[in-house]
Amino acid sequence: MKKTLCSLWRDQRGFTLIELAVTIFVISILIAIALPNLRGTGDKASKVACEGNQRLIRAQLENYFLTEHGYPTGLTDTDRLQQLVTQGYLQTLPTCPLGGTYHITIAADKNSVTVDCSKHGALGL
Ligand SMILES: [Zn+2]
Repeated sequence: MKKTLCSLWRDQRGFTLIELAVTIFVISILIAIALPNLRGTGDKASKVACEGNQRLIRAQLENYFLTEHGYPTGLTDTDRLQQLVTQGYLQTLPTCPLGGTYHITIAADKNSVTVDCSKHGALGL
């Protein structure tokens, strides 16, 4: 009794309709559980990246303050950030993943600084 590959294939019963229905039902339940958890991950990732940029800008502003005895004196926030780049405190201008712009606010006593994003606000203070 020699069976060929084709005859082996024909001998298999395959799946019943109920087995397929149960499988599809289980897969749909798994998808229903996973989708709400995956939906917000892009927003969380961009927020974490923006927070990292804000921390980097603030840290380099403090580094600049300690070295130069004052914060960058550019007229606009972009000028101040560009000043950090041209003087080697930042390699590139950090950009918000959602396209927000970073605002640098120097306190009235000129001894502290805050950084916030136009899209995300102040993160990681
Ligand atoms: Zn942002």
